[in-house]
Amino acid sequence: MSRPLENKLALVTGSSRGIGAAIAIRLAADGAYVIVNYAASPARAEKVVKEIRNAGGNAEAVGADLSTVQGINKLIASIDQVFGASFGGRLDILVNNAGTVVFGPFMEGAEDSYDKHFNLNVRPLIALSKDAARRMLPQKWGRIINIGSIHGESAPIPGVTMYVATKFAVHGFTRGLSRELGATGVTVNAVQPGFIDTELSPANGQAEDMKKLTSVGRFGRVEEIASAVAFLAHPESAFINGENLTVDGGWSA
Ligand code: NAP
Repeated sequence: MSRPLENKLALVTGSSRGIGAAIAIRLAADGAYVIVNYAASPARAEKVVKEIRNAGGNAEAVGADLSTVQGINKLIASIDQVFGASFGGRLDILVNNAGTVVFGPFMEGAEDSYDKHFNLNVRPLIALSKDAARRMLPQKWGRIINIGSIHGESAPIPGVTMYVATKFAVHGFTRGLSRELGATGVTVNAVQPGFIDTELSPANGQAEDMKKLTSVGRFGRVEEIASAVAFLAHPESAFINGENLTVDGGWSA
């Protein structure tokens, strides 16, 4: 079996379930040692770790609420405290996946809607990318992969205005940083999923309509986003930089 990410340390934020869990499992199958981050679900994170280990891979769960600055700092510190002995402070792959959406009209939204969206979808992504790049630059190799959304390119449905704002920020940040780091061996890309079957996504009344708008006629599977991330993380993807890779079953065609 090919293990292109052997001896690499990968951090996947928000990987106790959904898309993040699938990414963690896939990167571990490709040989990476994976840090499985979670905030509220330690049991689910341990289940992901167990699944990885049972398959012969390596993973460790680290709890850190990334919607707070303390949580971001705790996760960064763990790269040295928990994994420093084995990896010497290195980080090879960062997948910024943790995210949230609150459905509902903008005009009726709570006053803290900005904080809820930006504090999780954007702030940790920026802080962790900076820390990761510092670790990756000396080794002239790294992969920063941000999970954006088709909502980061247009606004296909109403009621998610703040989410759209954050995902545009994700794609803009991806492009900007990719241009700054381009010549260093560290690539910065994003994957923009369409509608994927997770707890975050189909739980609203438009689910069947959305399926019809996707030309392959179904929601995406979490493993299909994980495959795109694994593709971007692969050593052979070194010439892909600043890309927002759409994986949406043809929704935005
Ligand atoms: P999900 O099923 O709701 O999973 C979210 C993950 O993030 C969980 O592991 C959760 O762990 C973690 N998380 C939540 N709050 C956190 C916090 N404060 N700190 C750290 N981790 C936290 O979501 P998903 O559908 O897999 O979405 C993952 C990413 O894909 C998001 O960025 C989302 O915007 C993007 N996306 C999803 C879709 C879709 O259709 N599903 C489409 C486009 C883009 P805990 O429960 O332990 O907190």
